[in-house]
Amino acid sequence: MINFSCPRCHHVMSVHESQGGGSFSCPSCGNVAVAPAAAAPASATVPQARIKGTSGLGVAALVLGLIAAVLALIPVVGLFGAVLAALGAIFGFAGLIGAAAGGRKGVGMPIAGLLVSLSAIAVAILITGVVIDSGLLR
Ligand SMILES: [Zn+2]
Repeated sequence: MINFSCPRCHHVMSVHESQGGGSFSCPSCGNVAVAPAAAAPASATVPQARIKGTSGLGVAALVLGLIAAVLALIPVVGLFGAVLAALGAIFGFAGLIGAAAGGRKGVGMPIAGLLVSLSAIAVAILITGVVIDSGLLR
């Protein structure tokens, strides 16, 4: 159903979707009002925007995680990458929570971002630790 209000008296009328765009006389004041064309109800567009924002967080987490993963392969520099990865993990976690709240849609990207970020932190600590341990920097 399409709900719209009469422009003169604001009486709310309901018409079927197939009648969208048609003219109807208001049962309250007799004014002829044009029903809006069938459009997605406002409630349907909100979750879509939320999913979009959620996958945005997931993409950000994945990108940060991948940058950190590359930096992680460079000793010491990898520790700076780990800071990016920590940020990526936070984005991934936030995206995951948002996706779970939004009906578990789009959880793949945040999970991937979270895993890549956590792996990057582990690799950065491991590689830098090995290099410092072996005395290469001394
Ligand atoms: Zn009216």
